Amino acid sequence: MISGKIGFIGAGKMASAIAQGVVRAGVAKAGQISASARTEQTLAQLSESIPGVETTKSNTAVAEQSDLLILSIKPQVMATVLPEIRSAVRPQTLVVSVAAGVTLEHLAKAFKRGVRLVRVMPNTPCLIGKGACAFALGEHATEDDARLVETLLGAVGEAYPVPEHQLDAVTGVSGSGPAYVYTVIEAIADAGVRAGLPRAVAAQLAARTVAGAAEMVISTGKHPAVLRDEVVSPGGTTAAGLAALERCGVRHALAEAVTAATERSRELG
Ligand code: NAD
Repeated sequence: MISGKIGFIGAGKMASAIAQGVVRAGVAKAGQISASARTEQTLAQLSESIPGVETTKSNTAVAEQSDLLILSIKPQVMATVLPEIRSAVRPQTLVVSVAAGVTLEHLAKAFKRGVRLVRVMPNTPCLIGKGACAFALGEHATEDDARLVETLLGAVGEAYPVPEHQLDAVTGVSGSGPAYVYTVIEAIADAGVRAGLPRAVAAQLAARTVAGAAEMVISTGKHPAVLRDEVVSPGGTTAAGLAALERCGVRHALAEAVTAATERSRELG
């Protein structure tokens, strides 16, 4: 259970996913949550999806009253919002940023000295409670803060603590990762259609196969290679399919994708 007031600056997709997640998981009550955004429309959507949440167009009002303040605005909006809320944030407030590419150093400069900061790299499956997130603690953040952020993010998936310099690699793996997997699902489904399956059936089979295989890795704790060996019978269909995958360099292609996204994140950060 999270005690105290939870505030969101920005009430879009990520804020709404986290706010809904914490209420659904019973980690906080709607009455503890407030959110600010620029448009009435986003605020109305949030109030509708989580009755009891307080909404306002004033970022400073949310910043002033929050014990846990979550910056869920686009990175480019930070430049206007940070100076606006600087004086409103109380010294004991924990500030968590989910904005991609905004460093702890940048955030520390924007707030008063000593503010406890945490930077999070979430991913889009947070929107359905299946996120894979990582977070890095700022200089003044404590072990208790880490536990609080784990509880918060635990409501929308799983969260792993990493040193900040690893967040670029996190971006390469789990931040951008859903897009690689969508491409894989699409390719498998397309090939299924080519092999004669109806589109809707091929799409469902491909997506459920990826979800099921991922769940096998997570729930059994077995190495993917061990699970793969369990599917391959000598001289069988899967062995033929795997040989084709290796011939086409799928392993190398995915490794290159992770490396390229990691490097791009370093360039942007
Ligand atoms: P979004 O566009 O859905 O929401 C942004 C919100 O910010 C909106 O409610 C908007 O009204 C509000 N806003 C804009 N200007 C404002 C201002 N001056 N003051 C207060 N609020 C303002 O964006 P999102 O997808 O929720 O992304 C939020 C952050 O999360 C981004 O920094 C993004 O990098 C990060 N993130 C999102 C995802 C994702 O899956 N959506 C994944 C990884 C990281």
